[in-house]
Amino acid sequence: MAINRRNFIKGIGAGVACSVLPSSVVFAENRKLFSGDRLVFPRLRYDVIVVGAGPAGIPAAIAAARSGARVVLIEEDMAPGGAPVDMFVTFMCGGPRVGLFRRLVQDLNRSYPLGGRPSDTFGEAGGDGKNHWWMPSSFQQAYQRMIAEQKNITLMCGAPVVDTLVEASGNRNRVKGVRVMRNGVFQEIEAPVTIDATGTGLVAATAGCQVMYGSEAKSDFGESYGLEVSDGKVQPCTQMYISQRVRNDARFPIDSFKSGVLENDHRRWAQEQNREEFYRNNTGIFLHWGVSVFCKDTTDPVQVAEAQAKALAGQSKMMQDLQDAGFCVHLAPKIGIRECRRIKGETVVTVDDLFNGTQPDDKIADARYAIDAWGWNIPEEVKRKVKPYGIPYRALVPLDTEGLLTAGRIISGTRLAHSSYRVQPICSSIGEAAGTAAAMASLNKTSVRNIDVRKLQSELEGYGLFDASK
Ligand SMILES: Cc1cc2nc3c(=O)[nH]c(=O)nc-3n(C[C@H](O)[C@H](O)[C@H](O)COP(=O)(O)OP(=O)(O)OC[C@H]3O[C@@H](n4cnc5c(N)ncnc54)[C@H](O)[C@@H]3O)c2cc1C
Repeated sequence: MAINRRNFIKGIGAGVACSVLPSSVVFAENRKLFSGDRLVFPRLRYDVIVVGAGPAGIPAAIAAARSGARVVLIEEDMAPGGAPVDMFVTFMCGGPRVGLFRRLVQDLNRSYPLGGRPSDTFGEAGGDGKNHWWMPSSFQQAYQRMIAEQKNITLMCGAPVVDTLVEASGNRNRVKGVRVMRNGVFQEIEAPVTIDATGTGLVAATAGCQVMYGSEAKSDFGESYGLEVSDGKVQPCTQMYISQRVRNDARFPIDSFKSGVLENDHRRWAQEQNREEFYRNNTGIFLHWGVSVFCKDTTDPVQVAEAQAKALAGQSKMMQDLQDAGFCVHLAPKIGIRECRRIKGETVVTVDDLFNGTQPDDKIADARYAIDAWGWNIPEEVKRKVKPYGIPYRALVPLDTEGLLTAGRIISGTRLAHSSYRVQPICSSIGEAAGTAAAMASLNKTSVRNIDVRKLQSELEGYGLFDASK
């Protein structure tokens, strides 16, 4: 139904009858206007636009606001959180867990532990020997609180960005802002700097940036390890879920699972070999990595829907066994997509940067995590060759484009490098750096390429981003 003046007014009547909004919810910028009979939202202007409220976008928005920028954080889901909330990726890998991510973990531990004694630090190497996870709704609440602390952030949920506003600027494209679909109506939002933290790279792609997708050949970026010939494949998608005891006599049907089940605060994954220890612990709530399926094109909604249907069919027996044993199953609303577009930037992080522990001059985040490329049979000794390495600022800056930064798993790196830095603590540090950089560029009226990177690094240092011992 098209929204026109008549049914809009009818809608208001219905709204008043069933809900009373606090007055603070109505902002001047949210005024609806009419052009003839058509409802329009006026063009908005901010200092920084962040698209995607996930593990990278939320810290990006908070960091930009903390630096004094007026920020709009746009999310297509009805709630912020990204993969931990909508794909049930509620387990954290890698490190260091610093800056805003450390605050998130502290809040999760304080407010929502599922059992045991979670640690804030996870040790030097990013692990404390135990596996901790939290409920998706806990991430949502903790993230909401962190966002609400910043007065300068307008959070816009249920508003997919559908296009990018671009103009020519010399031999580059300049991103001026984005177009969102808001309540069935397009709205344009402008800012000197936009951050693409979508996990899919949609903003950068619609701005005409160069994108990479699937495995390249190792010769493409001079890597010492990789495929001889590119196969264009991305990592498989996994349908995550949580099972929870609902009957007193419920006994977890461990024989139905070969792997992929995590009991909170347990030292090992649930497997037949450690069943006695597993039953002794008996917390009654489990995180499941369900069936994994290959999806050729994770940018295509039809193929993603097919992948989800296939994964669900593949795991129906396991879910039924759980139900029969006295457990209920909470299914993630979205299938977990590990890999989509990667944006080609001023530099490309390679697997040799990980093997050599490269610490670039323009480092904006520390990173520690093994190569974790699902669906690719890589020997363990190769996976573990990774040393602590640094993420360069130039990997956040898309080639040939002004006014745009990238954050999170979509930054510029090869597929193997991406399989390491895609984990949440690292995505969060990248986001925090991107937000700080975006505010510097926007408030100083300079290009994202021309900011003072030393100043950026010293600001990030001040926020504890490089202190891996915390
Ligand atoms: C199955 C699976 C298992 C994983 N396991 C682990 C693990 O054990 N530990 C770990 O640390 N990491 C794990 N990861 C990786 C990690 O969860 C992701 O790489 C990380 O969440 C990426 O963060 P991001 O902010 O870049 O993207 P996302 O988390 O994908 O967030 C992007 C946000 O942008 C929004 N968005 C997208 N398009 C638009 C649009 N057009 N308009 C508005 N909003 C938009 C999305 O709704 C989402 O909220 C796993 C991932 C998957 C899929």
